Amino acid sequence: MSAVPNSTHDPALRSWVASANQPDTEFPIQNLPFAIFRRAGSPETYRGGIAIGDQILDLRALNLHGPFSGAAAEALGAAAEPSFNRLMALPDSVLTQLRAALSKLLHTDSPWAAKLHAELVPQSAAEFDLPARIGNYTDFYTSIHHALSVGRLFRPQNPLTPNYRWMPIAYHGRASSIIVSGQAFHRPVGQSLPAGAERPVFGPSQRLDYELEVGVFVGRGNALGAPIPITSAERHVFGLCLLNDWSARDLQSWEAQPLGPFLGKNFATTISPWIVTLEALAPFRAPLARAPDDLEMLAYLDSPAVRQYGAIDIELEVTLQTADMRARDMPAERLSSSNFRRAYWSIAQMLAHHTVGGCNLLPGDLLGSGTQSGPAPAEAGSLLELSVGGTKSLTLASGETRRFLADGDCVTLRAACSRDGYARIGFGSASAMVLPAHASAGQ
Ligand code: CA
Repeated sequence: MSAVPNSTHDPALRSWVASANQPDTEFPIQNLPFAIFRRAGSPETYRGGIAIGDQILDLRALNLHGPFSGAAAEALGAAAEPSFNRLMALPDSVLTQLRAALSKLLHTDSPWAAKLHAELVPQSAAEFDLPARIGNYTDFYTSIHHALSVGRLFRPQNPLTPNYRWMPIAYHGRASSIIVSGQAFHRPVGQSLPAGAERPVFGPSQRLDYELEVGVFVGRGNALGAPIPITSAERHVFGLCLLNDWSARDLQSWEAQPLGPFLGKNFATTISPWIVTLEALAPFRAPLARAPDDLEMLAYLDSPAVRQYGAIDIELEVTLQTADMRARDMPAERLSSSNFRRAYWSIAQMLAHHTVGGCNLLPGDLLGSGTQSGPAPAEAGSLLELSVGGTKSLTLASGETRRFLADGDCVTLRAACSRDGYARIGFGSASAMVLPAHASAGQ
């Protein structure tokens, strides 16, 4: 079971890659996240890599050395490819063998150390691609604190819809516009209805926002018509990344009745390049964050394991650096932080609900957790909440104010897990800059 730590999580493990042993590294030998990379600006083929300290172990180069045998060798072959879909489709027991083999290979005692120094690429010299061909993207709404604070803005008398405590609410999103961290995008244009107006206006969004989310990459899929039971749902999860579900609030509020988000959400979704496996997160599991009187669940969404360790303790944060801050060499400023542990619905419940009617998930499908806000207003995972629906300005250290994002703003999501007795692990970052709307747009 992926929620039980094993020898690869031993905090005493050290790597022959010296930077992996620094106390402040996000990528100690206990993490071992996967990304698709190549040397920046090169014509090289993208391939799989493992983060270790400030380096990337090139898995295609490693595979040519033939260091493993059996299932681990088969998995390494899949991990060396330009996308992880084939790796993700492997049984979780095989992925566990690959992790154990990589952990031994990178350990200080490994006989491979001298040979493999040449197969390291500094992360600072790399560029990344999407980790998988993402066939489908589904965005959930698992933070009850986000649902409540947004609900209060639009339905003060009845902020939580009656279905919320019974099912993990979601909508089917757009997979083609998912982009990897570092890729800028243009402010979207579309229709919106100004307050008090009788007819819509067309032009660049005036209420562009971010959403602080966790992305979940589906591993092994299920056949059409064969739901994934809650008890084995986590065996279908490859790993987690950071996800910024950019949102044009003005477009969204005009178009979303009655069928939900469309252009307000489909112009860009940014994810971090590194996928932290569910197995790496085993030491950071936590009970489902619900009060004892709030635990009534339909059977297909309930299990002892979900109740005991359905949640994952992941500290999340959002920072903003405006164009002015960049010009003045000012660092990015933290806007808020929250924790994925507080999600009302767990990952296993997301998968069980998604498939209960027979829907098939595919290796490389991506699920968004929904904006992760905490109970305090300062822990909000979007500007919509921090600015109370755009009615209150935030004042930044630069003296600038924001209700929503301006052109040139760069938003960065980060995440890390820490617990006494275990090595701290990080997720890297998901970062992107807002470019002005295309010049021809809105004319
Ligand atoms: Ca979202």
